[in-house]
Amino acid sequence: MRNLLIFLLALWGIWWVRRALKRAGDRRKAGGDQAATPGRGVEHMVECAHCGIHVPETEGVREGDRFFCSEAHRLAGPRKRD
Ligand SMILES: [Zn+2]
Repeated sequence: MRNLLIFLLALWGIWWVRRALKRAGDRRKAGGDQAATPGRGVEHMVECAHCGIHVPETEGVREGDRFFCSEAHRLAGPRKRD
């Protein structure tokens, strides 16, 4: 009886691992499809000239050759580093 329980537990374990792997694969596949969609590819990350955080280029504000994470930081201007 105990062996049967262990056997069923092992079967359930294998089924669970396979399901988890399949889900991980599906998620990876979905992510790949999204990345392949035009305009939704890997975004170029750019450093904010004011606070130094990296944000996607499309989400920030560009001013000349400088890049800022937000309009507020564009108005604040680049941080002086010396
Ligand atoms: Zn910033």
